[in-house]
Amino acid sequence: MFEKILIANRGEIALRIHRACREMGIATVAVHSTADENAMHVRLADESVCIGPPPAADSYLNIPAIISAAEVTGADAIHPGYGFLSENARFADIVAEHSITFIGPTAEHIRLMGDKIAAKETAKRLGIPVVPGSEGSIDSLAEAEKIADAIGYPVIVKAASGGGGRGMKVVRTPDELGPAMSAAGTEAKAAFGDDTLYLEKFLERPRHIEFQVLGDMHGNTVHLGERDCSLQRRHQKILEEAPSPALNDKERERMGGIVAKAISKLGYIGLGTVEFLYENGEFYFIEMNTRLQVEHPVTEMITGLDLVREQIRVATGAKLPFRQKDIKFRGHAIECRINAEDPLTFAPSPGKIAEYHPPGGLDVRVDSALYAGYTVPPYYDSLISKLIVRGTNRNECLLRLRRSLEEYVIGGIKTTIPLHQLLIGNDDFVNGAYNINWLEAFLRDHEG
Ligand code: ADP
Repeated sequence: MFEKILIANRGEIALRIHRACREMGIATVAVHSTADENAMHVRLADESVCIGPPPAADSYLNIPAIISAAEVTGADAIHPGYGFLSENARFADIVAEHSITFIGPTAEHIRLMGDKIAAKETAKRLGIPVVPGSEGSIDSLAEAEKIADAIGYPVIVKAASGGGGRGMKVVRTPDELGPAMSAAGTEAKAAFGDDTLYLEKFLERPRHIEFQVLGDMHGNTVHLGERDCSLQRRHQKILEEAPSPALNDKERERMGGIVAKAISKLGYIGLGTVEFLYENGEFYFIEMNTRLQVEHPVTEMITGLDLVREQIRVATGAKLPFRQKDIKFRGHAIECRINAEDPLTFAPSPGKIAEYHPPGGLDVRVDSALYAGYTVPPYYDSLISKLIVRGTNRNECLLRLRRSLEEYVIGGIKTTIPLHQLLIGNDDFVNGAYNINWLEAFLRDHEG
């Protein structure tokens, strides 16, 4: 087992990883920017190292500073969390070159899944259903027109290196195809330094359903069920739940089985998430995330597993302590992402937390690094807390969520708690009758 892990992240996820380490008897090293000197993850870690000024490019993305911090403190592994360097294959390579363990999959698998065209081809080869579209990249307008005609409009132009919803354009008619390709290419070149594009069928009303997988170095792979993350704004998830209100046990077992088998054939090690669009009973692969996800707690709540602990264990070479048949899903869980933002305009609202009172009680979990007197800095992602609740069924979970949101007090700044309160009072949400476009339409209604 590792003796000391450096956590290359901040905020709630740094704290989440610290907690798993602490329970496993592993010492922790926090790294932080000058803006995060008083952050909870820094206060609780066994050691901490300042790695640079506030901008993430100079601190949380500063590879030489992070490697030096690991060497100076004698850390034997680095946990990247999510975001920042978590899906940076070059970072995983550099960590390994310094004889430090990168807690995550191999650099080769990160690289493969980071290229969406290669990822899609791999998924298809492994028996995972994909969205109909171009075979590989599209290199000319003429080629794109031919493919779009064949699969039928609307189509979506996507960037091979895309992420965070950037470099994507929906095309409804043939005359929009040329302009969409140049716009997506320019955006992708600016954001990712790569303007390789591909094309696929645009699905009008899908749900976003993703499967959590976990593999060890001995060929054992399991799936831990799905999460429904259809409540999105500008492709950013706002609320996630497990199980999906749209799936039955048979569908879960069938798709989970296909995914786990594919991942096992790939020889994938560690935690991963295989993301699908789901429409009219069909699954369509869109991408695989090769890291711990923000929404992993909903899976933990219904499986009773500590995913970060399992992730650390498999990184040491340990065998998975369970098989697929040992994994039982208990009840229903929902996670609300609480951001330091205006609940309707989403304008950032950093600042000092005047009062802080998190909810509690049976099956209520709060993953947050907030405390009264803490100042939310303006430099980073606006996620400040995740409220996760479980119930024996979805209805109980909703009642518990409503009660927990009522109790939650975060004073001094604006947060998205009122948005979640609006959602929980909405019939479509309560009935689970939503897709990936639903939330934006709901927000338009509430603006008017
Ligand atoms: P990114 O890595 O930029 O997040 P994804 O491929 O995961 O890109 O897609 C992000 C979101 O874009 C999806 O959750 C979905 O809302 C939308 N999307 C992507 N592909 C399609 C498609 N073929 N049809 C409809 N919506 C899509």
